[in-house]
Amino acid sequence: MQWEAVIGLELHAQLATRTKIFSGAATAYGAEPNVQACAIDLGMPGVLPVLNESTVRYAVRLGLALDAELAGRSVFARKNYFYPDLPKGYQISQYELPVVGQGHIDIDLEDGSIKRIGVTRAHLEEDAGKSLHEGFVGMSGIDLNRAGTPLLEIVSEPDLRSAREAVAYMKKMHALVRYLEICDGNMQEGSFRCDANVSVRPVGTEKFGTRTEIKNLNSFRFVDRAINFEIERQVEVLEAGGEIVQETRLFDSDRGETRPMRSKEEANDYRYFPDPDLLPLEIDSAFIEEVRAELPELPDVRRQRFVQQYGLSSYDAGGLTASRELADFFETV
Ligand code: ADP
Ligand code: MG
Repeated sequence: MQWEAVIGLELHAQLATRTKIFSGAATAYGAEPNVQACAIDLGMPGVLPVLNESTVRYAVRLGLALDAELAGRSVFARKNYFYPDLPKGYQISQYELPVVGQGHIDIDLEDGSIKRIGVTRAHLEEDAGKSLHEGFVGMSGIDLNRAGTPLLEIVSEPDLRSAREAVAYMKKMHALVRYLEICDGNMQEGSFRCDANVSVRPVGTEKFGTRTEIKNLNSFRFVDRAINFEIERQVEVLEAGGEIVQETRLFDSDRGETRPMRSKEEANDYRYFPDPDLLPLEIDSAFIEEVRAELPELPDVRRQRFVQQYGLSSYDAGGLTASRELADFFETV
């Protein structure tokens, strides 16, 4: 049988603000452990989170660049779970009403054609701390500097059909957030990371297969390898008469394989509810227009202009506009 992959990505972009999403603590990377988490980030009793306006501005920038619906009113919710790197027991996120709704982005395919990929939503949330497993014998270290760091989670529609398309989409989004100067895009430092949802179905059928989610991929190469491994694994299971279990998996880059992390039965029940400490976020058209006015020329528009103005091929113009720095350099020269 011929199989087709169906893939949707959840990208986490760390927003390039100086301070955290709900507190004035610094977000700089590389500080000594636990010097940049304040009482608000730790969720101490009696503290109140205050929303960082820059994070909203940045989310709106991305929303405009994706031609997305922007919610006039969105709500912060508590996502409850227990984990050592989350001492307050919940993460503040957006659930039912995200700030950025349905939008889209175009990617280039191998054959020179362009494919439009749907973006389901993008929502603001805070990051958790980090568990450190190296250098502690019989113990784990907890570094809470990252707690409360602003993230924008960008969720795609299941419109991607191969690891190649997924990587093209991720690269395009990576370039876009850097163009917009909302995220530094540093993947080694975890500023831009990906969860990949993968399923397969017989070619020609409509119905989606059961998906697995591969967590926390922090390089384009890992995304490519993890998805290809997962597609092959699922096809093998199905061809042997087995069933795919909906589960979360981890990619082991040394072995080049994905492994189960938790299944749907043990899946978290997050018990989302609106955070009582935060008012709903209301955005008016004046704010949106203010943000629109500060947008740079967007990569696709710039690419078109390079084709027209400099007589370049679409391919060359695509390469030259892949990053804002390169495009600026080219134009300056
Ligand atoms: P969850 O909270 O379970 O991660 P989300 O709605 O945040 O759910 O994300 C679901 C992601 O999975 C989206 O990117 C979506 O496009 C993708 N997806 C949904 N169904 C399938 C499927 N059958 N195969 C592959 N990807 C899927
Ligand atoms: Mg998910």
